[in-house]
Amino acid sequence: MARTVLIVEDEFDFADVVALNLRRAGFDTVAVRSGEAGVAEARHRKPDLVLLDLMLPDIMGTEVCRRLKSDPATRGIPVIMVTARGEEIDRVVGFELGADDYVVKPISMRELVLRVNAVLRRTSMAPGDLDAASVSVGPLRVDGPSHRAFVEEDEVNLTALEFRLLMVLLARRGRVLSREALLDQVWGLQAEVETRTVDTMMKRLRDKLGAAGRYLETVRGVGYRFSDQD
Ligand code: CA
Repeated sequence: MARTVLIVEDEFDFADVVALNLRRAGFDTVAVRSGEAGVAEARHRKPDLVLLDLMLPDIMGTEVCRRLKSDPATRGIPVIMVTARGEEIDRVVGFELGADDYVVKPISMRELVLRVNAVLRRTSMAPGDLDAASVSVGPLRVDGPSHRAFVEEDEVNLTALEFRLLMVLLARRGRVLSREALLDQVWGLQAEVETRTVDTMMKRLRDKLGAAGRYLETVRGVGYRFSDQD
């Protein structure tokens, strides 16, 4: 069955070209022209991926992304933010909101289709079987199916990427992962982020995990690992 991409874009010409190229690549497409319609359509249709324009006539793409990622019904749907040159928001802000990738127009259709495929491959690749499992290590409990994490009994509020970073480390518990490997497995090969982004997110994840933060170990000159000590 063909996978469906929801295109939320108010520039009709661009939306048409994107839809044409995605259909040629074997996808089904649905296009809407406003943020509110995008949120409604994502809830109703459960697309496999959302291509989300930043500047929309009613609400900002960032707000659409925030709504999609905070609703349990839609938070698992990967989102690629699309901006035009000159209206670039901080890439990190896009990722903070839970966007899975970020592209800047003008972009070649070949590149865009590659990005869509890369994000779908990455987000459908469960780190081990953890996505279907609940794992406890010391005070930390991670619930894969609901994408929630708890320390003692308190829920830790993680962004989609922070949760994925935690899952990738946990899935390879005791093994060291380089920053490059983490960029690949958490952000995806195509993401144009720098290795220090890994350090920044690791620090924030540690802070958020509080008492369980000590399980995230830095291996100097190599990378990071989830401790194999209980
Ligand atoms: Ca626009």
